[in-house]
Amino acid sequence: MSESGGSTNAYEALPHVHPEALVVYCGDPRLQTAFVPFIEDELGLAKGQYIPTVVGGGAGALAYPQRLPKEFKFMKDRFELIHRAFPSVKRAVLINHEDCIYYRLLAEKIPGFLVGDAAKLRDRPGEDLNLIAGVFDRFLSHFGFQPEFYYGRFIDANHTKMAFDHVCWQ
Ligand SMILES: [Zn+2]
Repeated sequence: MSESGGSTNAYEALPHVHPEALVVYCGDPRLQTAFVPFIEDELGLAKGQYIPTVVGGGAGALAYPQRLPKEFKFMKDRFELIHRAFPSVKRAVLINHEDCIYYRLLAEKIPGFLVGDAAKLRDRPGEDLNLIAGVFDRFLSHFGFQPEFYYGRFIDANHTKMAFDHVCWQ
């Protein structure tokens, strides 16, 4: 055993969990201080009760199965793994947020794909929730997760505070 690699600190683990939700959200470091309290306090999911699936773009990674098939497959495979490993998971919480850097990068990388001015692009992740709901119905509903959609938006000019809207369609 290597002496240099060992740590004397002990961190708590949860040996018996029955997570009820998987939660997809963006890895943007600006927003982790908003996402985690939203999930834990507002959605009422304590650590161990949910499976964080943190990827650049959040739920946006599911939006374009035809244009971005590798992104979609990566996500779908994770859903399948979670479904098999944790049958207690019944909810899929899908979060997108305003001014997502993933969307900006896609717009630069794939000319003509996410067309529109900067202001439109900033709100595109919210508009895409509708698309994502359709994709979920078509390609992901067989896992038996009940989907929920949320949109995180900035509520102050300096982008230091966020609120989350529960997005539903009638
Ligand atoms: Zn993002």
